[in-house]
Amino acid sequence: MISSPRIGLDIGGTKIEGIALDTAGEITARRVVATVPGPAGVLGASAELVRALAAESGAQVADYAGVGIGIPGQVDRDSGTVRNAYNMGLSSLALGPELSARVGIPVRVDNDVTAASIGAVHVMGLDGTVAYLNLGTGLAAGMTVDGLPIRGTDGFAGEIGHLPIDPRGRACPCGQFGCLETVASGSALKAHWPAGGEHPGRTLNEAVAAGDADAKLARDYLIEGAANATRVLGLTVNPGAVVIGGGLRLLGDPLVSGIRAQLREWAAASEFIAALGLADRLRVLPADSPAAAIGAAIAINE
Ligand SMILES: [Zn+2]
Repeated sequence: MISSPRIGLDIGGTKIEGIALDTAGEITARRVVATVPGPAGVLGASAELVRALAAESGAQVADYAGVGIGIPGQVDRDSGTVRNAYNMGLSSLALGPELSARVGIPVRVDNDVTAASIGAVHVMGLDGTVAYLNLGTGLAAGMTVDGLPIRGTDGFAGEIGHLPIDPRGRACPCGQFGCLETVASGSALKAHWPAGGEHPGRTLNEAVAAGDADAKLARDYLIEGAANATRVLGLTVNPGAVVIGGGLRLLGDPLVSGIRAQLREWAAASEFIAALGLADRLRVLPADSPAAAIGAAIAINE
């Protein structure tokens, strides 16, 4: 149950996914539109989507308590400003106030991975301490305790993709070398397996099955890096569940059983790591689950 009906948007580089929730926390409308890059495009498409979701639910926009938005980039939750969301053409935009002026109800902006971590807990019916590991173009995590996120003082909590694990590794856009994200992410897959093209996740399993040695190596790196990220989360917040989300989760069983096998190997060598129970606590966010939009909607009051 949530206190009021609300709308959630997950704004990404290629699409904006929107949902409307009723007070039972059930989805009453769901729509996806293409992202139009640039401030005017993002604001226009978002405002139109909000109106369409209300209409599809048989309601007015004013019937909703607010709109929650999950978006990549640096988000200042107090001012509703998003910075450095370059893959949608935004260097700095007062997204919260600007969209609120267009739709006439309050708008709260959140980091997309934090929003997804809140949504995952809701969708999967989890409680207690939960870690959410997003394996997408980048690698980042969100942590929640009884459904409430740990954001940190400036919103950087969970940015474990920039934990350098190999000082001799590749340069990362963040300015460091050998970050976890340069090993285990969609962008790392592209670098390790250039033959996979723009969307290597879509053809990786097939290529490995067909005997492509580079694809196999790239998948092994991904699995080891994701297991490493899981161990970092285990040691940081000691979660009762670790949920794998993000586009790469659609690699399915080869990825998930690979991560489990790596975690079991480390557990077999260390009673300390074994006590974290990570292999058994690993879950996967269900496919086609609009977790970030749901989480953003749930978090509008907080
Ligand atoms: Zn980095």
